[in-house]
Amino acid sequence: MTAPAQLVTRFAPSPTGFLHLGHAHAALLAWRAAREAGGRFLLRIEDIDSTRCRPEFTEAILEDLCWLGLDWDGPVRVQSRHMADYERTLSALRQRNLLYPCFCTRGEIAREIAASASAPHGPDGPLYPGICLRLSAARVEARLAQGEPHALRLNMSRGLRCLDQPLSFEDAVRGRVVCDPARFGDVVLARKEIPASYHLCVTHDDARDGVTMVTRGDDLLPATDLHRLLQALMNWPEPRYAHHRLLADAAGRRLSKRDGAPTLRDLRASGATPAEIRSLAGWPD
Ligand code: GLU
Repeated sequence: MTAPAQLVTRFAPSPTGFLHLGHAHAALLAWRAAREAGGRFLLRIEDIDSTRCRPEFTEAILEDLCWLGLDWDGPVRVQSRHMADYERTLSALRQRNLLYPCFCTRGEIAREIAASASAPHGPDGPLYPGICLRLSAARVEARLAQGEPHALRLNMSRGLRCLDQPLSFEDAVRGRVVCDPARFGDVVLARKEIPASYHLCVTHDDARDGVTMVTRGDDLLPATDLHRLLQALMNWPEPRYAHHRLLADAAGRRLSKRDGAPTLRDLRASGATPAEIRSLAGWPD
């Protein structure tokens, strides 16, 4: 008899600001699930976007989590220190002709979309209209040889053709969910200024670290369709998912950094204790 796989969960914040109660909720859910099952709880800092992430926020995240009373297993994985891992994944996809270089500027894409009769939208915005997919191989080679900056896009229709069965995932709240990754179109997996994307790094790291249950906010539910496709293409295991609701303020607005939700630091400065924060974050003490 094989032993049941150990539960491995993770909390994966992006250090673009201080943690607020919504983050505390997400972190506590993942931590508690692992601790109750005698599993492992991992911490990952998703800081590949150097234009938005700052090391002082990473320090603050670690400090706030310790203050809340959370502990994690093994070293913290800081994504920006592992770019070579993501490059290897990109080159594996590229060798199978599943990626293509895109030289377009935002303006070129916007003009092409404005000029076309239909402009389908996906979860990340308007779908790429395929401009660089129509370039001849010789033209692509010439532009690459000139060192022209480019992103790498997934060739979605080719990717879908690699599948031998429809994709789905098991969600703790929703049950089996059928995926429709095509709604992302030819999504960017490496940007011009940042040589990897969130979608690529998150699926790579969850597989690398043996995460068996991905707990995260339900704002990321659509992204899971694409993540399942990347997992299938890379032959990575399928984790279970628990997309939880996002905490809202008194007016019903989802807590967010952008809308100025009070940070754990603000609450702490006004005298809140870790136990009070845990309870505000939906933790039954
Ligand atoms: N880094 C993402 C965020 O802070 C979370 C990614 C995930 O949990 O998959 O929104």
